[in-house]
Amino acid sequence: MQWVVGNSHKSAIGEIAAPRLVRIAAAAAPPANLPYHGQIPAAEPLVGPIDRQTPLAALPVFDPGDERSRPNVKLQDGCNNRCAFCIIPSVRGPSRSADAANAVRQVRALAADYPEVVLTGINLGRWGRDLDGRPRFPALLRRLLDETPVRKLRISSVEPMDWTEELIALIAQSPRIARHVHMPLQSAADAVLKRMRRRYRARHYEQRLLAVREALPDAAIGADVMVGFPGETDADFAQTRDFIARLPFTYLHVFPFSPRAGTEAAAHAGQVPAAVKKERSRILRETIAGKNLAFRRRFLGRELSAVSLPPRNGRGRALSDNFIPLELDAPDPPPRRLLQARIHTVNAEGAVAASWIPANAAAGRTRRGASRAEVF
Ligand code: SF4
Repeated sequence: MQWVVGNSHKSAIGEIAAPRLVRIAAAAAPPANLPYHGQIPAAEPLVGPIDRQTPLAALPVFDPGDERSRPNVKLQDGCNNRCAFCIIPSVRGPSRSADAANAVRQVRALAADYPEVVLTGINLGRWGRDLDGRPRFPALLRRLLDETPVRKLRISSVEPMDWTEELIALIAQSPRIARHVHMPLQSAADAVLKRMRRRYRARHYEQRLLAVREALPDAAIGADVMVGFPGETDADFAQTRDFIARLPFTYLHVFPFSPRAGTEAAAHAGQVPAAVKKERSRILRETIAGKNLAFRRRFLGRELSAVSLPPRNGRGRALSDNFIPLELDAPDPPPRRLLQARIHTVNAEGAVAASWIPANAAAGRTRRGASRAEVF
């Protein structure tokens, strides 16, 4: 073992390993001075206090599955919040941002091979607050649009209060940013939000969500919701259920609370029985299933911008700009293509079937006179 590299140094792994690899390559006649390797004693632990700010490199991540068509670029890590249920601030440290030039380089490189790049972070909306001049996330998005040829950017998740008017307007103005808003909710009961140490209340969340829907009428709007946080009463849960039923959510990620050692909530009184959490999860999933089906049906007969995904079960697939999985008519498109999909069927289970043409063909058709609004 040569080195032990902790989270605090993981962004420097390439830099640490490169001199060693150079020396292996030049083993026949190693130069007298290979400074970096020589400076690192064998098995030196390269770890440090997680709360110490360290630079973050924007690095693409290729997860298995659909992300092979839509790589992630992590632009931010860590979090300065202290949500009572969350271990992330303890294990990832404070918020740190990749610098903008590095992000531009990564997105530009990926844009050569991929039609869509997903921007990620633990608390992405806080991007820039730790950098010189404290730039804001919308400023980074503008640079990525202006300085790279990327055809589609997708924003993974942004905390409610960071969905500013500026960010919403930028998405509304740019057909190169996917109509997809993910805004963690957790609960719509103020008493629960307070105990969770979330930094908003239900009315704040609702204002942001309605602003999104007004500016982006066709956008997917999703949320993370936690059920069974300690002390969540039937009345608290009913508030969350009614909030979700009333507002234009299109999908949810529902999580039953589970205590994480080292978090404040793990020691809270009033733990909710597992059976109650299970039933509350079921109710929310049922509520959102109906809303999701209605959202998909809104697009019957309409065209959506989409990115082709690897076929499954012998059938071509794509993901629409507004986060609807599509099953494509033959012939299957090549993977990793931007296309225009016309929705012709939505079955009772919500499966959406579409015909398609390449996006560049659709653009040509637009030039010949189709409405611009038809083509993102
Ligand atoms: S839940 Fe999100 S915002 Fe809250 S502490 Fe964890 S990472 Fe930060």
